[in-house]
Amino acid sequence: MPDDLLQRLQRFQTEAFPLQRSHFRHLVDEGQHPMTLFIGCSDSRLVPYLLTGAGPGELFLVRNVGAFVPPHDQSQGFHGTAAAIEFAVLNLEVRRIVVCGHSHCGAIRALYGEVSPAAKHLAQWLELGREAALPVAEPGHDVLRRTEQRAVVLQLERLMDYPMVRERVEAGTLALHGWHYVIEDGEVHVFDVQRGGFVPAAQADNAGTGPYVAHAAEAQCDEESTRL
Ligand SMILES: [Zn+2]
Repeated sequence: MPDDLLQRLQRFQTEAFPLQRSHFRHLVDEGQHPMTLFIGCSDSRLVPYLLTGAGPGELFLVRNVGAFVPPHDQSQGFHGTAAAIEFAVLNLEVRRIVVCGHSHCGAIRALYGEVSPAAKHLAQWLELGREAALPVAEPGHDVLRRTEQRAVVLQLERLMDYPMVRERVEAGTLALHGWHYVIEDGEVHVFDVQRGGFVPAAQADNAGTGPYVAHAAEAQCDEESTRL
C-alpha cells in the first residue's frame, strides 16, 4: 500500500517547491518578516492561506482548539499560544493580530457538553471560552454561532491584557482583528467595533475591528460582547 503522505512530500519537493525556490531562498537569507499573527482554531476546515491568499513568510501562525488566548497573568504551565503572541509582537513586530473562529466549531460546541474525563488538558483549555457560552442547555444553530462570535471577542479582550499588545494598540502600531469564518459560505465575518457586531466581509469597510482606539473602543467592545 503506497504511503500517501510520503508521496505528497516527494511531490512538494519536485513539483511545488521549484516554483517558489527563489522566494524561499529570499526568506532564508533575509529572515521572516510576517506582518500578521494569525491565531486560528485547529479545525482542519479552516485554511488560513486559502482565506487570506497569503504565501510563505506572510503569516505567523498559532493554532489551538477554539482559537483561544490564555490569560497573560498565568504564572504556571507551558503556554505555547502566549509565547507565540509575545514573540510575534516583541521580536517580529507584527502589525496585526487576527483571532479567527469559525462555524461548526467543536470547541464551542463542547462548552455545552461533557468532555471525556481522560482529556484533562482539553477540559481545562475549554475554560478559556467559558465566558462566551450562553445560559441554554441545548444550543441550536443560532446560539452556537453567537457563542462562536462572542468567543472571538473574548479573546480580543484577553489579548489587550498583554502589556506589549496594549501598548502598541494604543500607540496605533498594532491592530486587532476578530474574524468568524463561515465554512459553508466561504465568508469571513469581521468584528467591527464601530458598527457593533460581526459584518460579512462583503459589506465590511476593512478587515479589522475598526479603529481600536484606546479606552473608548475597548469599553464599547465590552458592551458588544455582552450583547452578541
Ligand atoms: Zn474550531
